Amino acid sequence: MLEIAEEPFLSLQGEGILSGTPMMFVRLARCNLRCTECDTAYAQDKGTMTPLESIMEHLWTSSVRWVCITGGEPLLHNIDDLVEAIVGSDRRVTVETNGLLAASTTVFIHTSLWTVSPKMTNSGRSEKQIEESMANVARFVKGRRVQLKFICRKPTDVAEALEYVQYVEKHYNASMQDIPVIIQPQAFATDKVEDNLAVLRQLWKLMPSMLNLYPYDIRVMPQLHRLLYGMRRRV
Ligand code: SF4
Repeated sequence: MLEIAEEPFLSLQGEGILSGTPMMFVRLARCNLRCTECDTAYAQDKGTMTPLESIMEHLWTSSVRWVCITGGEPLLHNIDDLVEAIVGSDRRVTVETNGLLAASTTVFIHTSLWTVSPKMTNSGRSEKQIEESMANVARFVKGRRVQLKFICRKPTDVAEALEYVQYVEKHYNASMQDIPVIIQPQAFATDKVEDNLAVLRQLWKLMPSMLNLYPYDIRVMPQLHRLLYGMRRRV
């Protein structure tokens, strides 16, 4: 049994390096954080206990090659059996996490792409809490099949994110070479595409100066599904 926040659904991946890829999404319930910018607050609390077989039946309704396990925070749950069932059907798994919890060996090995999204002060995290996340994030980075994603709204958010990446690299011996660092505008709780685009433009303008300071694979990317569908769920 797994506690899901909503029924699995087919959509396109709207974030990061797989943006535009058709995927089945399994959104698990509950989160260990309460971020101020959370755009899936409905997944923070109790969900619906659902048999694994029922979840898999939803996944088999599509032949898409990727399954995204997300939340909430999916690593609060034992997802070994889910991951093994997905890869056993010749599909690929991507997992989205806030980076605070360790993955089991089974999940770590079978996940083709980790999206680790460390939460910064704009999420309501203290500097001490942010620092405490670094050792675990470094473990994901050392596994290499990872992208780091930071939610940003203003220039200081970008600077904080890139300082975080640099700190993890230097102090945890985690090479950031070839690790995509996604700078993603904070989604507005409105359907106003122009508001999101304005922030995207502002963040993009920073890139020339940021690239001089931080030699990483930095990408400024919108949430494609928000541009297409606003705040609608299961799209
Ligand atoms: S970690 Fe993600 S799901 Fe959890 S509260 Fe923060 S933004 Fe929301």
